[in-house]
Amino acid sequence: MGARRIVLLGPPGSGKGTQAVRLAASLGVPHISTGDLLRSEVQNRTALGREAQRFMDRGELVPDQVVAEMIKHRVQGTTGFVLDGFPRNVKQAQILESVTEVDRALHFRLDRDEIVRRLSARRVCSQCGRVYNLLSSPPKNDALCDLCHGALTQRTDDTPEVIAHRIDVQYAREIGPLVEFYRARSVLREIDARGDIETVYRAACKALE
Ligand code: AMP
Repeated sequence: MGARRIVLLGPPGSGKGTQAVRLAASLGVPHISTGDLLRSEVQNRTALGREAQRFMDRGELVPDQVVAEMIKHRVQGTTGFVLDGFPRNVKQAQILESVTEVDRALHFRLDRDEIVRRLSARRVCSQCGRVYNLLSSPPKNDALCDLCHGALTQRTDDTPEVIAHRIDVQYAREIGPLVEFYRARSVLREIDARGDIETVYRAACKALE
């Protein structure tokens, strides 16, 4: 049987969220996105959400322990998951390793200019949460959701300054050691994330065999 406990690594905008949804559906395992979980805590104005928002708005990582507590019970003892946005650094990878094995870590690679171009074009429905991209998966009308006609908005952390900060501070500094962590465990596979959604999906499926 192929890999079922999967983590996705890659810069914001690499399409890993889109691929996570498809991979999880085809494997019949939960898709666990720490970004989505945190945004829902923020929206519901929970104590955790209020704590997390200060970091998210600045493009900083939320403290490891806060995020770890949120996902530990979701992966412990399960036989399958697609983790999207966690781990973000070696400390988080060690926490994850203390509660479950990982069968495969897919690293979606994309250069900086392309990341900024893609994130600037991302739009989210303010009502149902569906994600669009004006370049690769545009809505029929630039301002409205195809499904529920809710207003499309930009994530507050998808502004050029915060994007630059997320790439440089969160991603560039942490990804090297994280990739080496999983390479040392022989579960790392590199994916070229420049292609269209279908091409990248096929590459990801192949990497899970
Ligand atoms: P994302 O949707 O994955 O781009 O995440 C949005 C924001 O949530 C990030 O910029 C971080 O502030 C926070 N976040 C998401 N996942 C994590 C994580 N594993 N560790 C710390 N912060 C996270």
